[in-house]
Amino acid sequence: MSNVTVLVVEDEESITTLIRYTLEHAGFAVECAASAEEARAILNEKLPDVALLDWMLPGQSGVQLMRQLRQDERSRDLPIILLTARSTDTDKETGLNQGADDYLTKPFSPRELIARINALLRRRAPQKTAEVIDMEGLILDPEQRRVTAGEDDIALGPTEFRLLHFFMTHPERVYSRRQLLDLVWGDHVFVEERTVDVHIRRLRRALTDTGYERFIQTVRSAGYRFSAKISG
Ligand code: CA
Repeated sequence: MSNVTVLVVEDEESITTLIRYTLEHAGFAVECAASAEEARAILNEKLPDVALLDWMLPGQSGVQLMRQLRQDERSRDLPIILLTARSTDTDKETGLNQGADDYLTKPFSPRELIARINALLRRRAPQKTAEVIDMEGLILDPEQRRVTAGEDDIALGPTEFRLLHFFMTHPERVYSRRQLLDLVWGDHVFVEERTVDVHIRRLRRALTDTGYERFIQTVRSAGYRFSAKISG
């Protein structure tokens, strides 16, 4: 697992230290904030891949922060795990109803925390996981950063690799150029939409000899779709 940033919003330093150690050891990049305000400053700069929000914070609570994040289009889909010392079912329900993807009661084990984050990523951002993907013989291995088609190694630039990884984990759906920029290049990255076309062209070219370039389908006036099916 790499290139995954986790934002930890927690005011108890001893817990933050432990979480940071656990996550960094598992290969995640970690950012920490001790209040909702600090968290917002970090979030405004760049969205993390996952946010761990402590329920009880000085000032604005983690739940209030989460509610705000869910109302903002930019952070609406941010994967969020709520951390809490509470453990009643009603609290859990409240947390999930307010928009948390998952809920973790303190104290939790490092193993549990990592498992929950990985499960959430698998669900919400499979292109961030290290799972090997095989689509009709086109195989992408994120950990080894390797793409093969039968016996052939396919050489790809970093952007083409990320693009292909995203497509292979999100097949059969049309994505606009804007969406691809947000999801593959990262939010708050200001590049022109035609940049997407440039990299699509390169990816197609790299796949041409294998025949897999047919998986990348242009959908007129909508964007692109990755599909093993014949397009209509
Ligand atoms: Ca707290």
